This record gives sequence, C-alpha cells and structure tokens, in this order.
Amino acid sequence: MEQGITMPKKPVYEELEKRVRVLEKSYFEIKQAQEALRDSESLFRNLFECHATVQLVIDPDSGNILNANNAAAKFYGGTREQLQQMRIQDFNTLSPEEIKQEMEKAKTNQRIHFEFHHRLVDGSIRDVEVVSSKIEAKGKDLLHSVIHDITERKRVDEEREKLQAQLNQAQKMESVGRLAGGVAHDFNNMLGAILGYTELGMLGISPTDPIHGTLTDIQKAAQRSVNLTRQLLAFARKQTVAPKLLDLNEIVEDTLKMLRRLIGENIDLAWLPGKDLGPVRMDPSQIEQLLANLCVNARDAIHDTGKINIETGTVTFDETYCAAHVGFVPGKYVLLAVSDDGCGMDAETLSHLFEPFFTTKEVGKGTGLGLATVYGIAKQNNGFIDAYSEPGLGTTFKIYLPLHATEAGRTTNMGAAQSAASGHETILLVEDEPMILDITTKILERRGYTVMAAPTSGEAIRLAREHAGEIHLLMTDVVMPEMNGRDLAKNLLSLYPKLKRLFMSGYTADVIAHHGVLDEGVQFIQKPFSVQTLAARVREVLDETK
Ligand code: ADP
Ligand code: MG
Repeated sequence: MEQGITMPKKPVYEELEKRVRVLEKSYFEIKQAQEALRDSESLFRNLFECHATVQLVIDPDSGNILNANNAAAKFYGGTREQLQQMRIQDFNTLSPEEIKQEMEKAKTNQRIHFEFHHRLVDGSIRDVEVVSSKIEAKGKDLLHSVIHDITERKRVDEEREKLQAQLNQAQKMESVGRLAGGVAHDFNNMLGAILGYTELGMLGISPTDPIHGTLTDIQKAAQRSVNLTRQLLAFARKQTVAPKLLDLNEIVEDTLKMLRRLIGENIDLAWLPGKDLGPVRMDPSQIEQLLANLCVNARDAIHDTGKINIETGTVTFDETYCAAHVGFVPGKYVLLAVSDDGCGMDAETLSHLFEPFFTTKEVGKGTGLGLATVYGIAKQNNGFIDAYSEPGLGTTFKIYLPLHATEAGRTTNMGAAQSAASGHETILLVEDEPMILDITTKILERRGYTVMAAPTSGEAIRLAREHAGEIHLLMTDVVMPEMNGRDLAKNLLSLYPKLKRLFMSGYTADVIAHHGVLDEGVQFIQKPFSVQTLAARVREVLDETK
C-alpha cells in the first residue's frame, strides 16, 4: 500500500485520464466484440465445415460450388478445394436446362426438397435427397444445400416392394388354386359317374342302335371334361401321383421323340443334358406333362422357324438367394430349363402367366391351363418355377426340383394293363360317394366278381368281420371322412393277412401322406376310370405275386 502525500491533480490531467480510461474501455470492448465475432465465425464455420451432413453452397445462377464441407469432400471424393472448382452440373445427372429449373424453384422457395441422382468423382451414381435453402450473402442469393445419400434406403425399399409383389402373387395363386381345386374335385366325381353310367348303358345295347351313337357322344364330351379337370387339379396340386426316384436326363431323353413330333419340323429342338445330375423323386408322367406344356407354348411363340433348348443342371440356393425370392427354400436342386427364341412376353403377361385360364391366344387356340399345370406340378414336388422373358427376346422357363438326398433308387413299375380282365374273387369296395360306389359295384359284378359295397370305413370293417369266406381285394377310396383308406387297409390286414389292396383316388388332396402322394409301391387307380381300365387294374392287382 502506498503511503504519503498525494498531489492534488490538475483538472487537465483528470480530463486526460478520464479520456484514457474511456479509450481503454472502448478498446477493451472492441477487443471483446472482435473475440466474440471470431468465436461466432469459428462456430458457424465449424457448423458448416465439420458437420457430418454433406453441405454445399451454390451460386444458383452459374451452378458454381462456392463452398463444400469436409463431408462433401468425403462423399463426392476429392478435396474441398477441388469441389470448389466444380459446378453442380458436374454432379447432377439431369440436363443443364432441368438443373436450372430446379434451382429456380429452390431460389424462390417454391420447393426446398428434392431427389436427384448425383455422379461422384469416381463416376458412380448415388441416389440423393437434397434440402436446399436460399441464403443471402454479399447482397446475392445463394443456395445452401444439405445432401443425404439415400441409395441404400431406396434399394431396401425396392427390395421390399419386390418381395411384397411376389408375396401377393403367391397368395393369389394359392387362393385361385384352392378355388379351382375345390370345384374340380367335386366335378371330377360327377364326371366319374357320368362316364360310368354311359359305359354301362353302352354295354346294354347293340352298337347299331342310334342311342349307342348318342352315348358315344356323351362319353367323348365327358372325356374332354376329364382332361380339363385333370389340368385344374394339377394346378391345385391335387393330382394323385406315383413318385419314384428318377434320373431327369433319362426321362427327358425318352420324351424327346414325342416333343419333336409336337413342335413340328420348322423348329430346331436342342437337348443339352447337364452332367452328373442327382436323382429327383417325382412321377415321370408329370415331367412329360411339364415338357409337353412348355414346348407347345414355345412352339406357339415361334412364328416360322426357330429354336427350342431343353437343358438340365444342378443348382444350390443359399439363404441370401432365398431371402430375395418368396417361396424358395435353401438346398440343392435339379434344374430343368426350356427356352425359346420366340416372340417373348411383356411384363403384363408375365404377371398373370401361371393363373388358370389366362391366355393371350384366340378363342379355341388356348385354354390358359398349360402353365397353371406346370406351376402346380412344380409346387406339388416342392420345387419352384421362374420365367424370364422380354418382348422379342424369347423366353426361358426354369423349373427347380429338389435333389433327392439318398442314393438308393427303388422304383415301382405300375405295369401295363392286362387283357384278361374278369374273375370270381371277392372284393370289398369302400367309397363314400354313393354314385361312384354304385357304378363301380355294377361294373365289377358284370365282370364276375362278388362285391361287398361299403359307403364308410366303419361299414367296411363291420362287413369284413361278419364275412365268412375269403376277401381277396380291398378297393378303397383314399380320402374318407371317418378313417382314411390307408388306416382302413391296415385295420383289415389283421383280419385278412393276404388281402390285396387297390386305392382309388380322385386326384384329391391326400391326407394320408403329403398332399396327394401315395406311399411308394402302393397300387392305385385314378378316378374317374373307364370300365376297361378298372377291370384291367383289378385283375392286375389280384394277380400280383408278393
Ligand atoms: P395357353 O397356351 O393355352 O394360352 P398357357 O398357360 O400355356 O396357356 O400360357 C399362358 C400364356 O402365356 C399364353 O397365352 C402366352 O401368352 C404366354 N406364354 C406362355 N409361354 C410362352 C412362351 N414360351 N413365349 C411367349 N409367350 C408365352
Ligand atoms: Mg399353353
């Protein structure tokens, strides 16, 4: 602390001191203000330069990039200095004229939100979402744009839409299938009755009788309907099949001759078998049906001359592939591909391709059931189908059938019908459809057999228990309300160990095994059957030794 005498200050000094103090204060204030400005400037520069979003400042008149932040440099690929030598026209894939229009909108605040494609410095294209605001600087309007890379989001959205469309398609096919299958199943039974009664009627009159001709016409019409319902049932995956282990190449090989006849001479048919195919487990007649339907379509798609390729091979689908394809299941598959260089299809046709009764052919030419059948067959065998086509560029159908895991191939020979088709054995006939039961009984009795007819499994068991003599053959429907045919057969075998069995099936969904699939080695006859076929099959099963 200073002590002593203080000199009295002169007014002029006081005045000066006061001024100095004022000056000091304003100097300090300026200093402070400068510092605040520097802080704020640095804050805002950092906000721009260091922010994680891609930001550009653009001169809307020239498109010149006046400033680009670090994130922009990283995104577009280059240094900030390089970007600041460029124009937005270098990035945006729109035409210069369109870019001008878009910038005008941003400048007048008509729109602030845009989606563009931007080309990066390395040439790759990204989807970007741009939010642009007008800012004023140095008396000029500039655009401040924040750019988001939405490429991934777009891809995911598209993927999801694609999957949704596939799913919708699959659901549509499923419900159409259920409808078609339901109608076809009942209709098929009725056709069985019509055909049976007609044949019985024909047996009762002389072939020269005019009524005989009428009955023949009824028979023909019914037979045509049978073919139609058969295709519908195939689509609805309700065709009864007798699958066995097959070498796909072998079956295709055997079918080639028939296919060549089918497609005619102007079309070249090339067969490209894949090497070392594993076995598939399938009904061979279904493969023939697949090939015939696909080749006929290919033929129809070729105007004059052309080429059809049939190829086989093996493929493996992994999880990733299946995630992007609704309904596909990972695993190993045998591929059967049929391609043509015909007229091809547009997207609209492709989207309806497998629907029953979808046809682009003129009335009388197409039924629209060919591909529905192919689809049903692929599905029934746990396989998949894909179609690739573009107008004018031909078409390829690819069918994937599950590769059968085990090696041992046991095949059943369904055998050809024999001609000596009558007998005196006793047959237990079980069928829940009264008309079919009646007509089948009549047919068998005419052939000399003794028939015990039962409308239910329960009745069949009761009849079998009460019966004194031998029962040689059990002929039973596969699907019945109380007890299915297989369980009934098992039940009766304990009473009659030597009982032969013949299963009848409309091509109905088979609850015994997996959807219409009978056990391997089991004898069956497909409904509706003709008198000849029935008689022959019954004889064949009765004569079977094993
Ligand atoms: P249909 O042959 O009786 O018309 P399909 O179910 O077999 O019925 O085929 C449905 C439709 O699919 C055809 O009418 C045709 O428009 C189209 N199509 C099928 N296969 C081909 C093909 N190989 N090339 C071009 N179009 C095809
Ligand atoms: Mg067809």
